[in-house]
Amino acid sequence: MSENQNKIALVTGASRGIGKACAIELAKAGYDIAITYAGNDEAANQTIEELKALKVKAKSYKFNIADKEACSNAAEEILKDFGHLDVLVNNAGITRDGLFMRMSAENWEAVINTNLNSAYYMTSQIIKTMIKQRSGCIINMSSIVGKMGNAGQANYSAAKAGLIGFTKSLAKELGSRNIRVNAIAPGFIQTDMTKDLDTEKIVEHIPLKRLGVPADIAKTVKFLAEDAPYITGQVIGVDGGLVV
Ligand code: NDP
Repeated sequence: MSENQNKIALVTGASRGIGKACAIELAKAGYDIAITYAGNDEAANQTIEELKALKVKAKSYKFNIADKEACSNAAEEILKDFGHLDVLVNNAGITRDGLFMRMSAENWEAVINTNLNSAYYMTSQIIKTMIKQRSGCIINMSSIVGKMGNAGQANYSAAKAGLIGFTKSLAKELGSRNIRVNAIAPGFIQTDMTKDLDTEKIVEHIPLKRLGVPADIAKTVKFLAEDAPYITGQVIGVDGGLVV
């Protein structure tokens, strides 16, 4: 990136929750921001307003991240709108929990497509730009369950473990091009995704004795993007000490 070029970040699934916090933290660090989302226009518009209040360029893109062609079209539009890309946060994700014996193929595929294949779809579209500019930072949102598994989440754990393998392999392939690739493994973070969990029981097992908040993850994203030039191929646990 030349010195007078703006820094650009793309955060998928950033209408709310962790993605929104990441977008805001990166905007505070001076990045222009592209966010993507599935359908919640009200939340996405609210996020865009908050980003613009930070005096950065911000634009939202609504499409299904599980759809290869939609990702390809959106990535093309984003690169046209913003010119280049410095940081990609592959964050969008869903859960479709249930014991494996009763897990439908539909729920398996929905989670794998939305949480794992989406990272391939988006990364494969933007990687040429990063290779050409000989710099870039890719952050994949994994999970503690990608490291330790979880009963009732075979689909989600497989997707999140897949992101870890993807991260480590890409880091090895792209290091020589000055592109860093890392994953974050959040523990239990207070968002819509976790709002129905019995948090009292969970907190008992967390050494720091609280649930995480989206800002805990966002600060780590900003650290990886801005202050970690010699960190690549890593999985950073942000879980209050739950998995050590
Ligand atoms: P939320 O449910 O709060 O937000 C999900 C985001 O992803 C929204 O912006 C949503 O858009 C978007 N999204 C969902 N499905 C699609 C789709 N098919 N196409 C495009 N966008 C989509 O989730 P969190 O913020 O809690 O989670 C963010 C990431 O962090 C996920 O990958 C999750 O697996 C991971 N994570 C979360 C943890 C937690 O405790 N919360 C723990 C570990 C990992 P819209 O608003 O339009 O629906």
